[in-house]
Amino acid sequence: MKNSAPPGLVPAQHGREMLFLRDLSARVGSDPMLVQASNGNTSVKVDGILWVKASGKWLAHATQEEMFVPLELAEVKEFIHKNAGIAPRFASKNGLRPSIETAMHAVLRHRVVIHVHSINAITWAIRLDGPDQLKERLAGLNWQWIPYAPSGMQLAREIEKAVAKAPGTDVLILGNHGLVVCGYDCHTAEKLLCEVERRLAITPRRFPKPDTTVLAMIARFSRWQFPDDDSLHALGTDAVSRKILRGGVLYPCQATFLGPVMPLLSPAVVLSKFGERLNGKDRTPPFVAVERSGVMLNEKMSSSERATLIGLVQVTQRTEESARLRYLNEVEVTDLLSKGAHGCKEPAAMDEKANSLADIKELDEERTASAGPFFAGPGSCIDSANLGLRPTGRLNSVKVRRYGSSGRKEGHARRRLQSQQSKFNLAEGDAEN
Ligand SMILES: [Zn+2]
Repeated sequence: MKNSAPPGLVPAQHGREMLFLRDLSARVGSDPMLVQASNGNTSVKVDGILWVKASGKWLAHATQEEMFVPLELAEVKEFIHKNAGIAPRFASKNGLRPSIETAMHAVLRHRVVIHVHSINAITWAIRLDGPDQLKERLAGLNWQWIPYAPSGMQLAREIEKAVAKAPGTDVLILGNHGLVVCGYDCHTAEKLLCEVERRLAITPRRFPKPDTTVLAMIARFSRWQFPDDDSLHALGTDAVSRKILRGGVLYPCQATFLGPVMPLLSPAVVLSKFGERLNGKDRTPPFVAVERSGVMLNEKMSSSERATLIGLVQVTQRTEESARLRYLNEVEVTDLLSKGAHGCKEPAAMDEKANSLADIKELDEERTASAGPFFAGPGSCIDSANLGLRPTGRLNSVKVRRYGSSGRKEGHARRRLQSQQSKFNLAEGDAEN
């Protein structure tokens, strides 16, 4: 497959469409309720050319860097019908490779396609009763539910089958994955995205405050660090979130960035299990949820991992305790992790891995400068305040830091830890009611 029109040498019509697409993409990509890190992708079809987001790029940067790859639409479709991979076969001169979700964009007939990992959509998309729950919320829209399929050719085929039966479909809820909306142009697609988001919006639960004394103790005797954003602590302090976390993996980005098993441990186990390993002896998870106390972060956590963790917290805080959830099964998780490249972590994204706190800060500063605030991104089409979100939180300011505490508090925390240590006998995955 070849690059059909080098960027910079495109007809005026393409330039105009691309201008709109870049603006739209930057707005959508700057809203963490829609996109986290490099996930999500957009495209436009102009004169038989499919312009699609490149693998690993952050939509938030769409107006600042080149990230759209032009492909002959007919050729892409030919590859799809031959069941040949698209992304691996293509490399443009400037090193951009089309997103692994390119096939999905190609099989949709609409000119503009927006695919996002919307927090609200995912919250519905992980429910076994999702299709029933959405009947009323999405009534009047041309929508369909696509059961979970891995990103790439398999997902594209499922979508192709679904839209063949109902060609007017312009909203797709992707089971255990996210949302797709389509339109004739960028304006209509974005308007529809806002409407769907409005209908899918869920207010997050309140959650107990973190136990900073226990967490400070852990920070003192290990290299786990505090997040500045208290909302992350919900994974440790909120009983419903802990229950959800224990259930396993709900969507691909969660497994890709946070691991196939969610680390939810007692304070004593956190100290004994990871205190040494964080010194570089072993691979530790990017975060740990400490039973009833809060969340601590690995100092080597990357920006992508952090964005994914924030997204996971937002999903769990919106998921009702009574909801029956569909978790990804072992085969699905193994399959997506073994491929090493899919919709939320494609080759270029792997370079995002930060190796040190200094790297994280540097990445954060870049993101903060360009991506805007966490809960009220410039592209946000929903009123974050009405959803119970914290308007002061910033995706890129969730920095880790050492946490100080008074000697008296430490003595108290030490005693609590000792009692927990004997109570749990350092057992991993201790049961909780
Ligand atoms: Zn996706």
